[in-house]
Amino acid sequence: MSSIAVQHPAPAPLVALTDDEVLFRDTVRQFAEETVQPHVHEMDEKGVFEPALVKQFFELGLMGIEIPEQYGGGAGTFFEAILAVEELSAVDASAGVIVDVQNTLVNNALMRWTNEEQKKRYLPRMCSDTVGAYALSEAGSGSDAFALQCRAELKGDDYVLNGQKLWITNGKEAGVFILMATIDASAGYKGITAFIVEKEFPGFTVGKKEDKLGIRASSTCELILEDCRVPKANVLGEVGKGYKIAIETLNEGRIGIGAQMIGLARGAWEHAVKYAQERKQFGKAIADFQGIQFQIAQMATEIEAGRMLLYNCARMKDAGMPFVKEAAMTKLFCSQVAERVASLCVEIYGGYGFTKDYPAEKYFRDSKIGKIYEGTSNMQLLTIAKLVMGK
Ligand SMILES: Cc1cc2nc3c(=O)[nH]c(=O)nc-3n(C[C@H](O)[C@H](O)[C@H](O)COP(=O)(O)OP(=O)(O)OC[C@H]3O[C@@H](n4cnc5c(N)ncnc54)[C@H](O)[C@@H]3O)c2cc1C
Repeated sequence: MSSIAVQHPAPAPLVALTDDEVLFRDTVRQFAEETVQPHVHEMDEKGVFEPALVKQFFELGLMGIEIPEQYGGGAGTFFEAILAVEELSAVDASAGVIVDVQNTLVNNALMRWTNEEQKKRYLPRMCSDTVGAYALSEAGSGSDAFALQCRAELKGDDYVLNGQKLWITNGKEAGVFILMATIDASAGYKGITAFIVEKEFPGFTVGKKEDKLGIRASSTCELILEDCRVPKANVLGEVGKGYKIAIETLNEGRIGIGAQMIGLARGAWEHAVKYAQERKQFGKAIADFQGIQFQIAQMATEIEAGRMLLYNCARMKDAGMPFVKEAAMTKLFCSQVAERVASLCVEIYGGYGFTKDYPAEKYFRDSKIGKIYEGTSNMQLLTIAKLVMGK
């Protein structure tokens, strides 16, 4: 019989939260349910995120969760950022992704790769009033991100950027963009350099906003760079090391997408349970039918499993452990769970679930993006396969 190593103190169960985490989670949950919820239907219909809510994200400290206090941030943990994304996404996945991109991609990249002068210049803004965006993808380079074509040429004290970016989340609201361009296309990934680009820089324009299936209130925009002048002082990290920033930032970002998807799944599940208890057929609530109970139980089990992957991975990141494999697994699995749960939610609502009068169809539409952005499911499988097979 194999023995069990007992550690003292024994590790806490993955579901265990500290008192501070419970307070933080409950505060975000209450804000999401009371303040965000009333706007959700209209924001989805119009495809526009309510600006007053973004202002409130800043006021609540949700846009600079991990940023150190000296720069005006909450000095919190990555785990808390994950809790915030989960709670917001239970009500609206668009709200979730705004806070997710800000914290897990943009702030993370800025905190990790900026020099002190850049920290002083940008971190206080990210906590107080400036939305951030992360611009890697282009029309011709998605999964093959390092085939990007956007060029940066040094001219005096500026880099001059030319090219286009596509699919950039928060594009409409953002004031600061972490943008990848190449200083030498013939050098392949070694030419890729990360720049901090401000909306006001000459030659920078936000182009077309996409009209989408889901997360419609989250802006997804084209960026156009026409002789866009970016001061040399705005290179993020080292010239030619942008690929490393891109990869490592996305590794963390993927945990955030896992949180968005698990939050969404929980929101859909809660609506399904409530509806099943109210809807009567054959003289009783449909929740009294074992067929429905089994579906609800299956959904709950998958959400719990996804959340365990998610929380474990976020805790690993905070503990400084390697987490690349777990992050890919989290995003892969949580996006699968979200799609399955949201789909079952539509079915439990029956015909009503297919209409826009009820929330089920929006959860279903919103769930689809989890398998696409920040690396498609196939890209996550490639990463996992590489790491588990040692290839
Ligand atoms: C709403 C939305 C928001 C986004 N936000 C951002 C953002 O903020 N910043 C940003 O930089 N990008 C963003 N993106 C872009 C997103 O990351 C890309 O769409 C994604 O990486 C996939 O790239 P692609 O669309 O070019 O698809 P492709 O790379 O063309 O993939 C098409 C299909 O081929 C499969 N495939 C490709 N290569 C392989 C392979 N080697 N093996 C097996 N299958 C493969 C893919 O899995 C997919 O199923 C966003 C996209 C959307 C839709």
